Amino acid sequence: MSKQKRFILQENEIPTQWYNIQADMVNKPMPPLNPGTHEPLKAEDLFPIFAEECAKQELDMEHAWIDIPEEVLEKYKFYRSTPLVRAYELEKALDTPAHIYFKNESVNPLGSHKVNSALPQCYYCKKQGVTNVTTETGAGQWGAALSYAAKVFGLEAAVYQVKISLHQKPYRSIMMRTFGATVEGSPSMSTRAGKDLITKDPTHPGSLGTAISEAIELAITTPNCKYTLGSVLSHVSLHQTVIGLEAEKQMEMAGEYPDTVIACFGGGSNFGGLAFPFMRHNLKDGKKTEFIAAEPNSCPKLTRGKFEYDFGDEAGYTPLLPMYTLGHDFKPANIHAGGLRYHGAGTIVSQLIKDGLMHGVDIPQLESFDAGVLFARTEGIIPAPESCHAIAATIREAKKCKESGEQKVILFNLSGHGLIDMTSYDSFINGDLRNYELSDEEIARNLENVPKVL
Ligand SMILES: *Cc1c(COP(=O)(O)O)cnc(C)c1O
Repeated sequence: MSKQKRFILQENEIPTQWYNIQADMVNKPMPPLNPGTHEPLKAEDLFPIFAEECAKQELDMEHAWIDIPEEVLEKYKFYRSTPLVRAYELEKALDTPAHIYFKNESVNPLGSHKVNSALPQCYYCKKQGVTNVTTETGAGQWGAALSYAAKVFGLEAAVYQVKISLHQKPYRSIMMRTFGATVEGSPSMSTRAGKDLITKDPTHPGSLGTAISEAIELAITTPNCKYTLGSVLSHVSLHQTVIGLEAEKQMEMAGEYPDTVIACFGGGSNFGGLAFPFMRHNLKDGKKTEFIAAEPNSCPKLTRGKFEYDFGDEAGYTPLLPMYTLGHDFKPANIHAGGLRYHGAGTIVSQLIKDGLMHGVDIPQLESFDAGVLFARTEGIIPAPESCHAIAATIREAKKCKESGEQKVILFNLSGHGLIDMTSYDSFINGDLRNYELSDEEIARNLENVPKVL
């Protein structure tokens, strides 16, 4: 067994196509529906909101491989390939026979995987003559990535950031403005949706759901402006598959194949990005890899949500999506993993869970930070609070291996670094963080507001 620690691909080995798992799924995701008529949406129906190419990719059930545009590949080369790393020191600390690998998506100047999709979304907008893009962001990773990508392709960006996150983590809004974007806390007074929310609840802390409503409203009411999204949608996961496709080649270099693939879960894009290329071998070649999505126990749509047609945003502007959901107006507890505070799961992942091809696990906040601190002290990287959930799930699996003596190969995604989230580590180390419990009654009550379609 090689003792090599980091596995890196040469520039000419970076994948030139993304993998569209929808083409290989036996049960396709159910279609998004027009909320008024309940008719299945066609790509053209999405053109007013999204770049046309993204709308087509969203509903593409046919092509398993989609070319990465040359202009996007060129920008990927600024930071890709990202390293695959064997976490020898973490293994040692856990005294586990498991082999633990992580794909390090934190090593780009934006600090998370999100730029992998920001670049193509902005490129496709530019290509069709769009001048402005708008979006929502939680902790700010997506907003930062989008602001950078917009600048790279010569677009103006307007970002709605979840208000509580904007206040907890001011540095990312400064990053966005450094790249030239304008940033507003959501709910804001600049849209009808924002005004309505503030009228109902003046202290509304905001959520990804409120910020999405505002960004979509701006896109629809502004000429030549398109909306972009950092997660949940199928085309976003598609762009993120560059992670798993690289990892596949790198695992080969390491002479191993994962028994277990783990990623944290907000809307599903970093999970899908790492998992889908490996899952294709479960679907097509009889591999038996286990896929685990790690969500916060305070926002447990995968493990305790319900499969329903629901809105993607709080105000109900989006099409109805078939998803595991906690209800579109669910208000998640104020945990530090802002990128995981979303009420629903993407349509692909929701179908895959229904079909038993993957499953979720719930991680309490304190367990996530315990894991993050152990990872920092062993591997020398301070992980994003979101990524800490993947590390915690990995540690659970590695501990099971210690008990059973199984030498499993575990691969997880380090979706981002935590260097701009140090206030959350400060709170954790000071003992000021806590866990949040969510009762079955609360979940059931919130699910009453889901439109009854199924
Ligand atoms: C946004 C984000 C996530 C969660 O989003 P997904 O689309 O589920 O991947 C996870 N980790 C980091 C670092 C993020 O920025």
